[in-house]
Amino acid sequence: MGADGDSYDLVVLGAGPTGENLADRARAGGLTVAIVEHELVGGECSYWACMPSKALLRPAAALADARRLAGTREAVRGQLDAGAVLKRRDEFASHWKDDGQVAWLESVGVDLVRGHGRLDGERRVTVETPDGGRRTLTARHAVAVCTGTRAALPDLPGLAEAKVWTSREATSASSVPGRLAVVGGGVVAVEMACAWRALGSEVTLLVRGDRLLDRTEDFAGQLVADGLREAGVDIRLGVSATAVHRADDGTLTLDLSDGTRLPADEALFATGRVPNTADLGLATVGLTPGHWITTDDTGVATDVPGGWLYAAGDVNHRALLTHQGKYQGRIFGQAIADRAAGRPLDLAPWGRSVATADRTAVPQVVFTDPEVAAVGLTWRQAEDAGLRVRAVDYELGNVSGAALYADGYRGRARAVVDLDRETLVGVTFVGPGVAELLHSATVAIVGEVPLSRLWHAVPAYPTISEVWLRLLETYRG
Ligand SMILES: Cc1cc2nc3c(=O)[nH]c(=O)nc-3n(C[C@H](O)[C@H](O)[C@H](O)COP(=O)(O)OP(=O)(O)OC[C@H]3O[C@@H](n4cnc5c(N)ncnc54)[C@H](O)[C@@H]3O)c2cc1C
Repeated sequence: MGADGDSYDLVVLGAGPTGENLADRARAGGLTVAIVEHELVGGECSYWACMPSKALLRPAAALADARRLAGTREAVRGQLDAGAVLKRRDEFASHWKDDGQVAWLESVGVDLVRGHGRLDGERRVTVETPDGGRRTLTARHAVAVCTGTRAALPDLPGLAEAKVWTSREATSASSVPGRLAVVGGGVVAVEMACAWRALGSEVTLLVRGDRLLDRTEDFAGQLVADGLREAGVDIRLGVSATAVHRADDGTLTLDLSDGTRLPADEALFATGRVPNTADLGLATVGLTPGHWITTDDTGVATDVPGGWLYAAGDVNHRALLTHQGKYQGRIFGQAIADRAAGRPLDLAPWGRSVATADRTAVPQVVFTDPEVAAVGLTWRQAEDAGLRVRAVDYELGNVSGAALYADGYRGRARAVVDLDRETLVGVTFVGPGVAELLHSATVAIVGEVPLSRLWHAVPAYPTISEVWLRLLETYRG
């Protein structure tokens, strides 16, 4: 309980990675903070998203890497031990228990209120507690909505009754389906197709559009499609599901837009996300239930007068990634503390800057085989934004560090150069083991490092990072 009964300086709705970071920063800034959580402290990321999905994918990548080298190839002739992979995944998901994160909240002095929270007018939150009770929390300064998203399902005949998989089941399933249909062509779809194929499922990927990963450079979707096909995934482009039926014996049938039918044991619908705002009392503060909450760069909800309502993380739709939600959590939490203390914004650790990187330099890794690691704008996005740019491409297989990393290494890098400033606005790497290269590109973009300076950032020989030198040489011509 706060110093003053159920009144706190700040009430945070949702204890996912964003809410936790925002609460921590505001508390460190001197505020009393309550955080309301109706499921598990740690949010989607810890239990049904980043952690379990990457725990499923990592063994597949390690095995694929071993298969790419003469010498180790001979040592790994078998398949993944699915039971062991699922067991390790369970550990990374903390067995779907949040004791560790609850203890962390206690250690930083944030009060946890279990239950479903709803806004109830200005600076008030009501919580339906698990014992059927009700608590009203009053916020002296601010309420921060950090309630995240959930899977969006299309309105298809039979879908609700068929009990299809969403990302939750795809990341937490305890056995490997014989035949898995995956609907979607985005990050969740391709990652889960990759993981479950490696674990032994026969996977069919149904993609409405004509390519995978349509928010990345064209070649990224192409190389990932090649990798999935080589692994045995049946990719069908330009096809969508029109109806789903589950028979009494448990078998699913998907009716497809091309007139065919697809039998499966499970079907994952990875068809987008919707904000968790439908049952949040948004109407009591003049917002529309079910909509994203728009904010300024300090997190203030722009459509609510008074500047007391903040929204951070997935729910504000700026960048639906854990690291960006945590970034906002740090900056917005500090802004709330500064405003509560009546100080001018003192975002000193961040160069007094409000959140900008969640618009201009969002890094993302797609952990498929090959991996896609991208930050900033694609060439097309940069052109659409009116920048005068040049795309500089280099085949990663020609880099000695990459050739050493894998026999017959296949991959590509692209740097998008802003010709007027001679800085980078976007970088994409595709290939095995490129994920850890990405931060170098993020630093170059956020730091607006001139290309003339990048020549002095000499990559260690022989690493895949040598691609930086090759990109600069290719640009210079
Ligand atoms: C399969 C999958 C894989 C992903 N992999 C990655 C990855 O590798 N890297 C990455 O950066 N991102 C990844 N993401 C995205 C990442 O999961 C989200 O960006 C991140 O979880 C957002 O954090 P958040 O705190 O904003 O929301 P969430 O994690 O969704 O947390 C919101 C919290 O609010 C709670 N809540 C909601 N409504 C209420 C209410 N009314 N009252 C009380 N509590 C409430 C929820 O129970 C939840 O705990 C992945 C997503 C998916 C689906």
